[in-house]
Amino acid sequence: MAEFTMELNDEQKEVRDWLHGFAADVIRPAAAEWDEREETPWPVIQEAAKVGIYSLDFYAQQYFDPTGLGIPMAMEELFWGDAGIALSIVGTGLAAVGVLANGTEEQIGTWIPQMYGDADDVKVAAFCSSEPDAGSDVASMRTRAVYDEAKDEWVLNGTKTWATNGGIANVHVVVAVVDPELGSKGHASFIVPPGTEGLSQGQKFKKHGIRASHTAEVVLDNVRVPGSCLLGGKEKLDERLARAREKARQGGERVKNAAMATFEASRPAVGAMAVGTARAAYEVALDYATTREQFGRPIVDNQGVAFQLADMRTSIDAARLLVWRASWMAVNGKPFTAAEGSMSKLFASETAKTVTAQAIQILGGNGYTREYPVERMHRDAAIYTIFEGTSEIQRLVIARTLAGVPIR
Ligand SMILES: Cc1cc2nc3c(=O)[nH]c(=O)nc-3n(C[C@H](O)[C@H](O)[C@H](O)COP(=O)(O)OP(=O)(O)OC[C@H]3O[C@@H](n4cnc5c(N)ncnc54)[C@H](O)[C@@H]3O)c2cc1C
Repeated sequence: MAEFTMELNDEQKEVRDWLHGFAADVIRPAAAEWDEREETPWPVIQEAAKVGIYSLDFYAQQYFDPTGLGIPMAMEELFWGDAGIALSIVGTGLAAVGVLANGTEEQIGTWIPQMYGDADDVKVAAFCSSEPDAGSDVASMRTRAVYDEAKDEWVLNGTKTWATNGGIANVHVVVAVVDPELGSKGHASFIVPPGTEGLSQGQKFKKHGIRASHTAEVVLDNVRVPGSCLLGGKEKLDERLARAREKARQGGERVKNAAMATFEASRPAVGAMAVGTARAAYEVALDYATTREQFGRPIVDNQGVAFQLADMRTSIDAARLLVWRASWMAVNGKPFTAAEGSMSKLFASETAKTVTAQAIQILGGNGYTREYPVERMHRDAAIYTIFEGTSEIQRLVIARTLAGVPIR
């Protein structure tokens, strides 16, 4: 087990500087354009693929870094560049993690490369769990997966919503109900391979922020996938369902479902995205406060402005520490006895919202316009308290963990 450290090693510093260079030279200059276009920035994803940032290898290297700092460091730098573009670059990772966490070695080897494609022909992937009537309340999911034993195929029907890369993905990972009697314990995840008949994109959403990231409904109409597309395989699913039925009979402890396990593992990473956006806005505000003069002196000479900057930086550093701690715990298999993963996401996402609003205030009228990036950063920051579990749901998870009551 790696000791917890707050110091990046030399190799990590090199990776961080390389990512920062890409974020500063490629992502940030493209941010305003793709925010206005509200389209997936394919050329930027392709650039990221060319230099090796958009690839399974890079992601896996950070994911398995024993210090736990690889993923948060990478997320912070890319989202410092721009949240919408960075989400287009890392969105595939959410689906990939779903396969890494629940798939067999063969499924990992078959599907993850197809999620990314290659630098000449980049692809993206989507993780589809949320539904119109099942957002925070995952247990009320309705999308059904029924096994056709004669053909060894699963048949999927339902409507997913809010799917990042939904409909434009090469590979979709879909969470569906296999046993409605078991509530959230009766869910399973499926790969929907490229070009599968019956999967189509529904409405594409026009959003408040992260507008370079594609978000859409995904409609599943008699989608047939081979038995081998059930993540983890049929035997493992049958065992899990049998255990869940036994526990339900005994009225015993609840078991986590696949979607919740995926969300839990990704929460500190979302916290790190929020730290990146917050740091970006803080840096713009600090620079502005030291150069903008009113009443014959830089505005930072006023305590009212200086104290805001002090608070912004303090919360950003505190958020990063919570994120790094949770990531280290996740990688080293530490039990989250106080829901430290949720804690990190809660604090970092609320920090991003507050800090970006403070940045607008410090820039005055300029902060309110699209001439300066803090307006976009503030719109982008609002997503962090919503996706991967809202702030209210994080508080609920933390409180239930502390109180020792089951988390559904
Ligand atoms: C841009 C974007 C990208 C997304 N990407 C994906 C994706 O790739 N894949 C995917 O599956 N999903 C994705 N989501 C969905 C996201 O995870 C959900 O929006 C989120 O979980 C909240 O669900 P909801 O929108 O249905 O809100 P609701 O669950 O309806 O919540 C509405 C409000 O009620 C509050 N609330 C609900 N229950 C409680 C409670 N018990 N106690 C207190 N307050 C409560 C919530 O906190 C919130 O404030 C994305 C969403 C967005 C906006």
